[in-house]
Amino acid sequence: GRVVVRLDGVRKEYGDTMALDGVSLQIRAGEAVAVMGPSGCGKSTLLNMIAGLDRPSAGDVVVHDEDLSRLTETGLALFRRKRIGMIFQFFNLLDDLPALENVALAAQLTGVSAGQARRRALELLDELGIADRRNAYPAVLSGGERQRVAVARALMNRPALLLADEPTGALDSHAGEQVMDLLLDLNQIGQTLLLVTHDERLAERCANRVVSVADGRIVGERSLERTL
Ligand code: ADP
Ligand code: ADP
Repeated sequence: GRVVVRLDGVRKEYGDTMALDGVSLQIRAGEAVAVMGPSGCGKSTLLNMIAGLDRPSAGDVVVHDEDLSRLTETGLALFRRKRIGMIFQFFNLLDDLPALENVALAAQLTGVSAGQARRRALELLDELGIADRRNAYPAVLSGGERQRVAVARALMNRPALLLADEPTGALDSHAGEQVMDLLLDLNQIGQTLLLVTHDERLAERCANRVVSVADGRIVGERSLERTL
């Protein structure tokens, strides 16, 4: 597949802390890559660079043919909304909007009409098996349901890349399994996936490549045969 993410010699310093110390990485369309490593090794910083949430101190980040260093802050915000889908450990849903509106909002923010956004949101909730929860607020949803709503939101704009930061970290094992299966299914129908996790089982289940990070550097890489 074509290259979706290219990092070249990326460094990121926060004051005296070297959060990333020369990271180069390529991700091709259709891959599912897991980034693993101890707390504080730079995993979130790496995701933030790729998502355009923060800028490197040095080096290049190219995502979906877009050199992020050339984008203004407004350009970066638009890039994030249109090209990147993100899911998080604690879901980051808006508490005062029902499930459907949480999902629809992602498209409305890119200029899609409310009606069209709601139609696509409902389609996605249906595909993810939670259409019956469309009018429920996040507070009354289970953890697994919240994460499925968050996945639907992340997929709204058909992102080139789905970024997942510890997506099963706050779920019980059953809900965690369901989210793993969902991510695996999405990758198998072509969604490129970058996953940050401590969970070896999640990596083994969903990823076809594992990248190990320590002290801001890539220290190992291995390919996985997924066993289905
Ligand atoms: P991980 O996600 O692997 O736990 P992080 O990327 O969050 O690691 O952090 C890497 C290092 O950079 C840590 O030492 C962390 O404290 C530091 N760091 C991350 N973000 C910031 C920030 N915004 N300001 C200062 N230090 C930061
Ligand atoms: P996790 O490791 O679970 O992803 P963290 O608590 O390390 O989460 O980081 C959460 C957010 O806080 C990240 O966006 C990270 O960049 C930022 N952060 C981490 N460490 C620091 C720090 N020392 N100072 C300021 N911000 C930080």
